[in-house]
Amino acid sequence: MATITIALAGNPNAGKTTLFNTLTGSRQHVGNYPGVTVEKKEGGYTFPSGEHASIIDLPGTYSLTAYSVEEVVARDYLVQEKPDVVINITDASNLERNLYLSTQFLELGVPMVIALNMIDVAQDRGISLDAQKLAELLKVPVIPIIARSGKGTAELMGAALALAKENKPWDPLYISYGEDVDLALQTMAQRITATSFMTENYAPRWLALKYLEGDSQIREKGRAHNPAVDAELQEIVERVSAHLHKTMETYPEAIIADHRYGYIKSVLRQEVITHTFDIDRLHASDRIDKVLTNRFLGPLIMLGVLLGLYKFTFTFSELPVAWLETFFGWAGDNLSSLLPDGHLKSMLISGVIDGMGGVLGFVPLIMFMFFGIAILEDSGYLARVAFMMDRVFRIFGLHGSSVMAYIVSGGIAGGCAVPGVMAARTLRSPRERLATLLTVSFMNCGAKLPVLALLTATFFSNNQAQLMFLLTLLAWGVALTAAKILRLTVLRGDSTPFVMELPPYRFPTFQGLFIHTWERTWQYIKKAGTTILTISILIWAMMTFPGLPASEEENFARQRQEVESLSAQTPEEALQREEKLAAIDSDRAGSGLRHSLAGRLGTAMESVSWLPGFDWRTNIALVGGFAAKEVIVATLGTAYSLGETDPENTASLSETLAKDTHWNPLVAMALIVFVMFYAPCFVTVVCISRESGSWKWGLFSICFNTGFAFLLATLVYQGGRALGFAG
Ligand code: GDP
Ligand code: MG
Repeated sequence: MATITIALAGNPNAGKTTLFNTLTGSRQHVGNYPGVTVEKKEGGYTFPSGEHASIIDLPGTYSLTAYSVEEVVARDYLVQEKPDVVINITDASNLERNLYLSTQFLELGVPMVIALNMIDVAQDRGISLDAQKLAELLKVPVIPIIARSGKGTAELMGAALALAKENKPWDPLYISYGEDVDLALQTMAQRITATSFMTENYAPRWLALKYLEGDSQIREKGRAHNPAVDAELQEIVERVSAHLHKTMETYPEAIIADHRYGYIKSVLRQEVITHTFDIDRLHASDRIDKVLTNRFLGPLIMLGVLLGLYKFTFTFSELPVAWLETFFGWAGDNLSSLLPDGHLKSMLISGVIDGMGGVLGFVPLIMFMFFGIAILEDSGYLARVAFMMDRVFRIFGLHGSSVMAYIVSGGIAGGCAVPGVMAARTLRSPRERLATLLTVSFMNCGAKLPVLALLTATFFSNNQAQLMFLLTLLAWGVALTAAKILRLTVLRGDSTPFVMELPPYRFPTFQGLFIHTWERTWQYIKKAGTTILTISILIWAMMTFPGLPASEEENFARQRQEVESLSAQTPEEALQREEKLAAIDSDRAGSGLRHSLAGRLGTAMESVSWLPGFDWRTNIALVGGFAAKEVIVATLGTAYSLGETDPENTASLSETLAKDTHWNPLVAMALIVFVMFYAPCFVTVVCISRESGSWKWGLFSICFNTGFAFLLATLVYQGGRALGFAG
C-alpha cells in the first residue's frame, strides 16, 4: 500500500506539536505553504506493521472560517490535498470549546479520528470522559492520549490506519440550524447541485453554509466560478439575513455558532463528561480570571507582567550579548593583525565580521524574548493580555496581541525592533499583523538611544531627562497613528472579531518552552542570516568605494611622510608626532567617506535635505544608520574628521557640534525626529520581509518610514523657523 497521509489539526495549545514530535521524532521537514508564511511541518511515521505514513502538522485554529491565514491554509489543505485521515487533537480538559472545531471538520466530512489529549490534566481537574460514548455519538473513533508521554499514541495511530484502509468517501455531518437557516441551506444546496457550482471540491450544503457565514474566500471563488449562481446564492443569503434580523435581531453567523455549540452541548450532556469529584462551580481558571482580568487590577497586573518580561529579556540577554560582542571584537582584532592592510581586510572586518556579529548579536535577545513569550503563551496569560488590550488597540485598527510587539520594540525605551517584529507572530489576522510589523520600528530602540542622547545632551542639556521621556511618548503616539493611517489606506479592511478564546491557565512545561523557543530562534538564524551578511557587505562597499582619487591619496601620503620624517627627540615631540599622524588619518578617512558612494549620495541629497535642515555630513551618517542606528554617531564622527567615534564616548563630537555654525537646537530637534522615524535598520527590514512573506513590505517600510520622517522633520524645522526659533 502506498504511503498514507495523516493531517494533525486542532486548536492552538491542544498539543499538536507535542504529538507531532512524539510521532515523528527527528524525521521532520519544515517548509512553508505556497504563497504564505504559515509554516508547514511534515514528518514520517512507521507503523508496527511496516507501513509508512506521512504526517502533516496543520496550523492551529479555533475555527474553519476565513478570518485568518491559518484557517484558510488548514481548510485548503484538507479540501485540495484530501489527506487519508485527519487526527483532530483536542484538549480533553477543555472539551466543549475544542469540539467547536471538531464539528466543523465533521461538517466538512473528512475521515477523522479524535485524539482526546491531556487526559492527565482532565483527571487532575476531576473530569472523567467516556471516549466510547463520545465515539458513538459523533460516529468517529475517539482515543484518549497523553501526547507528552506518548501514552495511547500507538492505539491512536492504529485507529487512523484502520480508517485510512476503509477508504470511505467523505461523509458530511448535517447539523440543524433552525427552520429559517435550514430552509435557506436546502434551497441553496439544490441550486448548487443543479448547477454543479464548485461541487468537484466542496459538498453543496457546506458551500451553502459558507455563503451564509459570509466567508470571503469562498465567495471570491464562487464569483470567479460562476457569477450568475453566485449572485443567486447571495440573494438568498440577504433574504435570510434580513428575515433573521427582523424576527430575532440577529444574523446568520451568530445563529450558526449558537447551533454548533448547542449540538456540542447536547452530545456532551449524554454522560460523556462526568465530574468525579465535586469541583466548585467556579472553575479554578475562572477564579484566577476574576483577579487577573479585573477591570482595575487587571491592567495594573498586566503592566507589571509586561515590564517583567521586558526586564527579563533585556537583563538576561545582556551578558551573552556582551560575550558575543567581545568575541567578534577579538576576532576582528586578530584578523586585523594577521592580514595586510587593504580592501580585503577592511571587507572582512567591517563587512563580514560586523555583519555576522549583527546577526548573532540578536540571538540571545530573541531567545530570551521568545522564552518569556512562551511562558505567557503556554500558561494562557497572553490571551488575557490580548483580551484586555483589545479595546484600546482596536481604536487604532490593531489587535490586543499587538501590545507585546510594541513593548519589545522599545515601547519602554531601549528595546529592539527585531524581536519586536518576530513577536508580531502571535497575531492571527493578516492586516492587523502587517500594520503591527510596519509600525513597531517607530519605537525608540536601544540603538537610537546613543544618537538621541548625543543630541539632547549637546543641545538640550537642561531638560534632557524630560525630553527623553517625551520622546518615548512621541514614539507611541506616532506608531499608533501610523498604524491607524495604514489601516485606513493600504491595509484597509474590517477588524477581525476577537475570536481568540481564553484557554484555561496551565503550568507551562520546560520541554514545551524550550521547543517553542528553539524553533523560533533557529528560524531567525536560518532565514535572516544569509541575507543580512550580503547586505552588510554591500553597505561596507558603499561607504568604501570608489575611494579617494589618486592625487589626493598621494597628497595624504606625502603629508604623512613629512611628519614621519621629522625627528622626535623628546617624548613630548614623539607624542605630538603621533597626534599629527592621527589627525591626517582622520582627515583622510573623512575625505574618503565623502568620496564614497554613500558620501556622493549624501551630497546629492542636500538638494532636498535642506528642507529639514540637514547637510551632507548628516546625510552620510543617516545612510550609514541604515546598517544600524548607532552607526550614525560613528559616521558623523568620521565625517567631521574626528576619527573613529565610540557611540558610548561622544564628548569630542558633542563639542564639535556645539561649536559648528550649521548646528542649533532646531536642527538637532529635526534630526531627532528624523532618526526616530526614518527607515528601520536593514536587519529589521529583512525580518519584516521574512515575516510578511514579501520583499514588497520590507521596501514599503523603508519608503513609508523615510517619507513620514522627512515630512515630520521638515515640519519641525520649517515650522520652527517660521515661529522664529534659532535657524
Ligand atoms: P500546539 O499549540 O497544539 O502545538 O500545542 P503544544 O504541543 O505546544 O502543547 C501546548 C502545551 O501543552 C505544552 O506546554 C505541552 O507540553 C503541553 N502538553 C501537550 N500534551 C500534553 C499532555 O498530554 N499532558 C499535559 N499535561 N500537557 C501536555
Ligand atoms: Mg505548535
